Amino acid sequence: MSASLIDGKALAARIREGVARRAAALREKGRPPKLACLLIGDDPASISYAGSQQKHAEGVGIDYELRCLPSDCDMPTALSAVDALNVDTNVSGIIIQMPVPKPLDGFALQQRIAASKDVEGVGAANLGLLAMGRDALAPCTAAAAFACCKASGVDMTGKESVVVGRSVIVGKPLAMLLLGANATVTQCHTRTRDLAAHTRRAELLFVAAGVPELIGAEHVGEGAIVIDVGTHRVDAADGKKKTVGDVKFDEVAAIASQITPVPGGVGPVTVAMLLENTVAAAARAAH
Ligand code: NAP
Repeated sequence: MSASLIDGKALAARIREGVARRAAALREKGRPPKLACLLIGDDPASISYAGSQQKHAEGVGIDYELRCLPSDCDMPTALSAVDALNVDTNVSGIIIQMPVPKPLDGFALQQRIAASKDVEGVGAANLGLLAMGRDALAPCTAAAAFACCKASGVDMTGKESVVVGRSVIVGKPLAMLLLGANATVTQCHTRTRDLAAHTRRAELLFVAAGVPELIGAEHVGEGAIVIDVGTHRVDAADGKKKTVGDVKFDEVAAIASQITPVPGGVGPVTVAMLLENTVAAAARAAH
């Protein structure tokens, strides 16, 4: 391997340290940051995810509250629960655990979150602010991929940057963050003709396609910085499971100058970004 690793775990630890300092300062001012999670139903994966969120939040001095609703609750009840969190002055940030049980409308519930408390950056207001180059709570995964690139030390100004993926929570906001850093951005998707022709030109290559090991050596130019957002559990040769990204790590690492590993790259930074957004929301509310 010739590429050096962009260590997401170390970056996440640095972000958490900063968050912990800011959370302590807010607590001293009598305005402790608090993350509230609305969990509807009893999906075991969602319950486990909420438990992990609580551990991460409390680990940096952010209070955590889980509000639960039964899986058969109706839309007006769920919307009222979001409204109650919106007006609760002790709550700095709100997460709605997805997916919500059918027939509830998860999109409508997320759009109901007050923009100032939308710490996952899933609402139209924050995405709009991001597009306008204004201060916004950016979607955590996009912000994490951007932070990993920044951690490489590269000056993004004018760099040929290619984002594979155009989802609302990753690809699009990531392109906006890159534009904000004066990169030259190309966005690729399933209708892009000759994907490799685009990705090979990239000095900064971001892959958020959701396809295990989509990007191989033939897609990457010599010396590129490669940020792999994908994360997938796949069968390994020994019959066990392993975690891979959207990039064929070994062959791309032989060509790239810097690369994020999977696991241990964008993933841990995403969690740290949720904490960062929560403390930022709390700080703004405290002013
Ligand atoms: P998504 O909603 O499925 O979007 C995937 C995007 O990639 C779409 O825009 C799609 O194009 C594009 N795409 C798919 N196959 C492609 C191909 N062969 N060539 C070019 N473009 C292709 O996924 P997402 O939510 O953005 O997530 C992307 C990846 O990030 C997933 O692997 C997910 O697991 C991972 N993820 C990681 C974290 C983390 O913390 N590390 C958090 C969230 C997500 P179209 O628009 O044309 O369909």
